[in-house]
Amino acid sequence: MTTRIALIAHDHKKDDIVKLAGEYVDTLKRCNVIATGTTGGRISEAHGLTVERMLSGPHGGDLQIGAQLAEGRVDMVIFLRDPMTPQPHEPDINALVRACDVHNIPCATNISTARMVLDVLTLRLTQQV
Ligand code: PGA
Repeated sequence: MTTRIALIAHDHKKDDIVKLAGEYVDTLKRCNVIATGTTGGRISEAHGLTVERMLSGPHGGDLQIGAQLAEGRVDMVIFLRDPMTPQPHEPDINALVRACDVHNIPCATNISTARMVLDVLTLRLTQQV
């Protein structure tokens, strides 16, 4: 079954996630990518990826992704959070990360971990590991 991966980045991390998506674009093309609104727009614009866009994070996009995850419809999450800036939707952010823990879904919240997750995904897709 096609891997369904969620990509989310706070404003100060958007350039990072766009760059990361570019590095792994061949892998991401083989997945179903969902994202919060602005993050998804930036990634599809930069790399021509098909991205299923939810609402923007502060308008409920994190919760939409969390709801899909709780229903077993998300396999992994890359969520580049900004730890230096308070977010208006902090409860939604915590709810999504909690949902990952409840349902044992890999959730990378910084670039180093994101690369590890995407490296493993790339291996799985290319070598059927
Ligand atoms: P955005 O949402 O991609 O729509 O900016 C991300 C967030 O802030 O949670």
